[in-house]
Amino acid sequence: MRQYYFDHSATTRVDADVAAAMLEVMRENYGNPSSVHGFGRTARVAIEDARETLAKMLQADIAELYFTSGGTEADNTALIGVMVANRDRGNHLITSKIEHHAVLDSARYLENSGYEVTYLSPDHYGMIHPDHVAEAITPKTVLVSIMHVNNETGTINPIEEIGKVTRDKNVLFHTDAVQSFGKLPIDVQKLNIDLLSLSAHKIYGPKGCGALFVRKGIKLEPRTFGGHQERNTRTGTENLPGIIGLVKAASICHEKMSSEAERLTNLRDRLWQGLQTSLTAVHLNGHPQKRLPGLNNVSFEGIEGEALLLSLDMKGIAVSTGSACSSGQVSASHVLLSMGIPAEIAQGSIRFSLGRENEEESVDYLLKVVPEVVNRLREMSFGG
Ligand SMILES: *Cc1c(COP(=O)(O)O)cnc(C)c1O
Repeated sequence: MRQYYFDHSATTRVDADVAAAMLEVMRENYGNPSSVHGFGRTARVAIEDARETLAKMLQADIAELYFTSGGTEADNTALIGVMVANRDRGNHLITSKIEHHAVLDSARYLENSGYEVTYLSPDHYGMIHPDHVAEAITPKTVLVSIMHVNNETGTINPIEEIGKVTRDKNVLFHTDAVQSFGKLPIDVQKLNIDLLSLSAHKIYGPKGCGALFVRKGIKLEPRTFGGHQERNTRTGTENLPGIIGLVKAASICHEKMSSEAERLTNLRDRLWQGLQTSLTAVHLNGHPQKRLPGLNNVSFEGIEGEALLLSLDMKGIAVSTGSACSSGQVSASHVLLSMGIPAEIAQGSIRFSLGRENEEESVDYLLKVVPEVVNRLREMSFGG
């Protein structure tokens, strides 16, 4: 049976050129970048070249980028590292209810350690408002962490405006850009961002590699202890193949960004229009326009998202319910609930995240199979 992949927000297939670049570095450039000999120096050059390429993409300085083991570590380091290192400035963190668990669980950890955390609610589209951020800031606020694009709904937050608020009030601003980096333009200067997390495996790069941007002058407590790598902030021998893969993947995404965004927006809209035409009682969760190209989170009334996911899997179609991290867990998505979507509707939601594996033909297959399966599941639950 042919397999159809519609779960690009969970992870992606590594690009062939990225895999080739990684294989080459693993075989030919295997020195330890901290070694003084020629092998080490060659590896060091490769890392610093990669850092420079990535810095240019973000309009950052090379001294402001730290390579990490992925988005999770970048988020953990941003929140905990900044709050702990800046304890003299205050103990208040502002974040939101729609964040990824890499941020939410770091915030919980800080709360358990005596910090104060405000969790902002989104509007009905899953968007966080700059006014709400401004209202929540107190003299004790150190950091605001609001994600750029939500991984479940694809809604794009107004981070430039949020960054303006934090800049005016002299508090730091972190954004989790794991879902937007490589897909939407990001300029940390223009967007007023102080810290930013990104990951390779959501953009056709390898799993286990990411980066954290930290604006110069910001104090950050290290989360690892050992050697002196990454300016003592992220110690441990650098993952050179991962770093090369991350930067190669990012470069390819940046080259194709506008054409791929247009292509995926068309496919995304074709899918949602098709579902609306063939089914009743379906709802799009997330902002109708200010949404990631390629992402549709849809609620199907009267059925369980989990049942639909399993039925689609049997037809070779891969989708997800809520976030991948919470599947296996029957409760409705924390993101959809925080948007005010009733639990029974939130439970019937599916995320279709389109990407390079998809073209019109695969969307049309989806449009043929989904209505059949939904109608059958609805008959079972109502007719039975
Ligand atoms: C996937 C994801 C992460 C985690 O990144 P990893 O590299 O898998 O650790 C964090 N935030 C968001 C929004 C994500 O989608």
